[in-house]
Amino acid sequence: MRIDPVAPADAGGESYTQPEGLLAVPIGRKEKQIQAYYRILFSTWGCQHWWPARTRFEVIVGAYLTQNTAWTNVESALSGLRSARLLNLEGIRQVALPELERLIHCAGYFRQKARRLKTFVAFLDQHYGGSLSKLFSQPTPKLRQELLSLNGVGPETADSILLYAGNYPVFVVDAYTRRILDRHGILPEKTDYEDIRQLFERALNPLAAEALTAKSGEPGAAHRPSVGGAGHPPSRMSTSRRTTVAQVYNEMHGLIVGVGKNYCRKSQAQCDECPLRSFLPHG
Ligand code: SF4
Repeated sequence: MRIDPVAPADAGGESYTQPEGLLAVPIGRKEKQIQAYYRILFSTWGCQHWWPARTRFEVIVGAYLTQNTAWTNVESALSGLRSARLLNLEGIRQVALPELERLIHCAGYFRQKARRLKTFVAFLDQHYGGSLSKLFSQPTPKLRQELLSLNGVGPETADSILLYAGNYPVFVVDAYTRRILDRHGILPEKTDYEDIRQLFERALNPLAAEALTAKSGEPGAAHRPSVGGAGHPPSRMSTSRRTTVAQVYNEMHGLIVGVGKNYCRKSQAQCDECPLRSFLPHG
């Protein structure tokens, strides 16, 4: 697995415009607070082992299938594809569209998703000769732009592919991230995706410098099962080589999913039991 040397575009700490709205946490403190979230969640739950997959292509298929559906449904669809020996580039390239739709039916929006997977493979064939290694040797901004131009690929899917399949240092923002920021008075839920991504990358880069990851800690820690959150068993992709900054981004997204799934639910937040309860704004 290659290690991308390209730093995030905002790694130099460019100026940041505060969106309008009720904000309990002033600029500058936001980064510190996000760093504190990482420290407390990582020390509580340990390595989350994202993304659960055996290959880069499996991560890509999972990133498409997980749009608007629960991960358990994605797991069923991936399992069906694997049983049919189609969870690989050649499989998705060759399988007839109706058969692909049938196999991923349980992941929802199966017609859209089947077409989108075919579109991705056609893009890979046309631009990179069907080679994921060539795809993932592109500079971050170029590849991100290309992925975003594909049908059905928004920022969250593009960044999931970059971070979890390509090990690029790009933070993934999801609905849980938005909800936690909003409820803690850091940023309103509707804040632009790029503003949130850049805030997290600015906040997390110093933690990478401190090497606050299991991979950079004691030997064997990266292969130890997580003790909570939304952790998965160690997998070939979760333990693949990546830069420390990509590892911190990888970990933080997994930790946030753990908060969102277990405590910070849309309809009812269970703050009393949440590891982040001490960060709730007064009132
Ligand atoms: S559950 Fe409560 S304490 Fe935990 S992240 Fe959500 S709002 Fe914060």
